[in-house]
Amino acid sequence: MSNLPSEPEFEQAYQELASTLENSTLFKKNPEYRRALQVSAIPERIIQFRVTWENDKGEVQVNRGFRVQFNSALGPYKGGLRFHPSVNLSILKFLGFEQIFKNALTGLSMGGAKGGADFDPKGKSDGEIRKFCVAFMRELNKHIGADTDVPAGDIGVSPREIGWMFGAYRAEKNRWEGVLTGKGGNWGGSLIRPEATGYGLVYYVQHMIQYASGGKESFEGKRVAISGSGNVAQYAALKAIELGATIVSLSDSKGCIIATDEKGITPELVHIIADLKVKRKALTEIAESSEYKQKLKYIDGARPWKNVEKVDVALPSATQNEVSGDEAEALIKAGAKFIAEGSNMGCTQDAIDIFEKDRKEKKGEAIWYAPGKAANAGGVAVSGLEMAQNSARLKWTSEEVDEKLKGIMKACFENGLETAKEYVAPAEGEFPSLVAGSNIAGFKKVAAAM
Ligand code: GLU
Repeated sequence: MSNLPSEPEFEQAYQELASTLENSTLFKKNPEYRRALQVSAIPERIIQFRVTWENDKGEVQVNRGFRVQFNSALGPYKGGLRFHPSVNLSILKFLGFEQIFKNALTGLSMGGAKGGADFDPKGKSDGEIRKFCVAFMRELNKHIGADTDVPAGDIGVSPREIGWMFGAYRAEKNRWEGVLTGKGGNWGGSLIRPEATGYGLVYYVQHMIQYASGGKESFEGKRVAISGSGNVAQYAALKAIELGATIVSLSDSKGCIIATDEKGITPELVHIIADLKVKRKALTEIAESSEYKQKLKYIDGARPWKNVEKVDVALPSATQNEVSGDEAEALIKAGAKFIAEGSNMGCTQDAIDIFEKDRKEKKGEAIWYAPGKAANAGGVAVSGLEMAQNSARLKWTSEEVDEKLKGIMKACFENGLETAKEYVAPAEGEFPSLVAGSNIAGFKKVAAAM
């Protein structure tokens, strides 16, 4: 019996990783790694602090701030900051834990971390959000640095918030350094960073499709269901459309939109949604506009998965645990062959079990699932490239960054695939498990370094 409070999200993430390691030959081949797993389950350091700030009425407000510095075996702690009312230690520990192995999979020198606050940007004025960011950095600056810990954005933290925090860091430290990534393009940010998670996700899935079809198929003609409407969902949609796919859904915390005409959700609509989201407005605004009424169906309070009729690819890109067991079944029924997480831990364990069972039973005809720590690694990968550009005082072109991102996503896919073949030996005709392969590949690298 543990005397610690329960941490459901962290325990889920830990169990998911640990079970795939246990069910492989990894510990037989490297018995000392079992101890490394135990050690890696405890963050090197957790910083918790009070953030006080003043709202527009001049009243003092207070929030909880956190930074979980999980593992620095491979490099400085690295991972995003999430500002959302649901933020607590369990969520940040799950995200930080995933981040360790995701960062390892990029092949770059980055440790794993995550942080944030239970601050809700919704309903706050721009001035209030700015004041919160400055107050948050007033404490966080003591614990981070370009060679120590390099935060970035996550849910609720976009380049604008990064800008306010970066300004506050420089003011506190009297020093310019690449201490945050996801910065603006003209003050140290990398080109392609805003697009990186969504683009990287699509590049990764391209490899899944090519491998599964023996090089015969691509995104061309595929119907793609996406959840979320933030940065990851927007750029995944735009890249998939560029490659010839049709986007059949997007969503936000209030509901989802489903395309009802054959063109699907167009790039123009994605841009309109991006503008809405900057203003922190809901998708209901689109659903109500007469221009889109004939082309879209809005479903209040629902996620897309049970509401899409025919789909080839599903990209959960909103938040954790956004695909349940029932929804996994519904996706299989709707014809989905590829599911890859743009969000972190987008699928529940029930959903993963259903996909993995399908993979074993239906072999070459099965659905194929890729976990976020591999499929959404493009974001942090380009953060790593931003760190490299900042230290070298250089700026690479979009083409250079995009090429590197493509190379990293290819390596991420191939590493997961080859590692699965080596450590879990798929049966005749069965696709290797990308979830097991990616977990083992990421963990092995960290364990060896530890
Ligand atoms: N929040 C992103 C993630 O979950 C990016 C982190 C970063 O760029 O440091 O990977």
